[in-house]
Amino acid sequence: MELKILGSSSAGNCYVFDNGKEALVVECGIPFQEVKKAVDFDISRIVGCLVSHEHGDHAKNVQKFLDARIRLFASIGTIQKMGIIEKIITAAFYPIALKAREKQVVGNFTILPFDVQHDAAEPFGFLIQHYEMGTVLFATDTYYLPYRFNGLNNILIECNYRLDLLEANIEAGRVHAITRDRTIQSHMSFDTCKEALLANDLSAVNNIVLIHLSDSNSNALEFQQGIREATGKTVFVADRGMKLNFNKTPF
Ligand SMILES: [Zn+2]
Repeated sequence: MELKILGSSSAGNCYVFDNGKEALVVECGIPFQEVKKAVDFDISRIVGCLVSHEHGDHAKNVQKFLDARIRLFASIGTIQKMGIIEKIITAAFYPIALKAREKQVVGNFTILPFDVQHDAAEPFGFLIQHYEMGTVLFATDTYYLPYRFNGLNNILIECNYRLDLLEANIEAGRVHAITRDRTIQSHMSFDTCKEALLANDLSAVNNIVLIHLSDSNSNALEFQQGIREATGKTVFVADRGMKLNFNKTPF
């Protein structure tokens, strides 16, 4: 399995798990054209697209995905907030509502959604299982992780900001003070990310991918080094265009 990162910032998020036979897309915050390119224009192999919540950087191209007849999966709260219900013509392409802690099979992927803590209607994180890549944790846009997970093999987790960098930016007038509270109550800090990772059994984890770093309140190199030192694992910072081997075993 390959993980293709098509976007991982407030400009637009999209991740594709693709083994050349089937592909699962997570988030539709980038133009659908880029997803088409990522799957070699074979959109029939896209088994579905998960959407974590309705904010534009995760969901703004949802209608284009539906127009392309991609099966969309999200919480009922997210589906309602995306404002697409009235635009849907064929019932077959109505988004499919996920329920927290209820498994959903999508192709050879099994999805277990869980609730996260963000300023959105009903935001979800996902445990995604596939026989090639094992159990993958996907958690973004949450100021902490309310659960522990068993048997993780690969992790994508938000590492949005570090408090000292955020404070320094406010002091220097580069970031408005109003954004401070919103950031703290909706996004995951470096320290919380580290704690969340260390609260889980990482013994079978191959890759930790830090996602959704803030443009101004983060330091990619320091975040990568810090999480690598804390966990002893292979750590990447998500970047547009990045491709990673995402298998259950490291080989
Ligand atoms: Zn958001």
